[in-house]
Amino acid sequence: MKKDNIPLFFATLQAANPTPETELEYATPFELLAAVLLSAQATDVGVNKATRKLFPVANTPQAILRLGVEGLEDYIKTIGLYRSKAKHLIETCRILVEKHGGEVPRTRAELEALPGVGRKTANVVLNVAFGEATIAVDTHIFRVSNRTGLAPGKTPLEVELKLEKRVPFEFRLHAHHWLILHGRYICVARTPKCWECAVAPFCDYKPKTPRPKSA
Ligand code: SF4
Repeated sequence: MKKDNIPLFFATLQAANPTPETELEYATPFELLAAVLLSAQATDVGVNKATRKLFPVANTPQAILRLGVEGLEDYIKTIGLYRSKAKHLIETCRILVEKHGGEVPRTRAELEALPGVGRKTANVVLNVAFGEATIAVDTHIFRVSNRTGLAPGKTPLEVELKLEKRVPFEFRLHAHHWLILHGRYICVARTPKCWECAVAPFCDYKPKTPRPKSA
């Protein structure tokens, strides 16, 4: 993607959705951290279904510790990999209580030291809970960045570093959500819906998908 097109690409996504939000439901930084931990290889819809029952009962590290691994598993059984996620979340809660006074830490290093929290989860928490201009590269952002030529790269980290360089600062805070939502609903994995894509004029992908007869 030509450098001149990048501001136009983001301005177009912004015009359609000025203040995008995560589709995970949360009310506090801890609820967000817990939801993101549970969301690896699961859908946001599936995580929301479980946390709608879990959070009214336990939405602090202390309360989740009181549930214990088995008690927690009962609430998250419908989510893939729930056993290892329950273990990680309980361990994370223990560290939050012992080292951080029950609060979610605000630095990348402290977040990444929590069990089950990698760079991507840390980026989501820093961005969504604490308003930092980080970009967490998930499968959607990886695909959209490569396909459009916005920030091509072979690994999520390579894409992330390139996005940091290429995305103009005024779009950086929300870039994460615009790209995810664009990848989830328009620039979808199998056949991108180029015929209804507002950013098609700025995207390098060729040939563009024509409008199907049934659409
Ligand atoms: S034109 Fe097609 S490939 Fe490019 S961003 Fe839009 S949907 Fe994706």
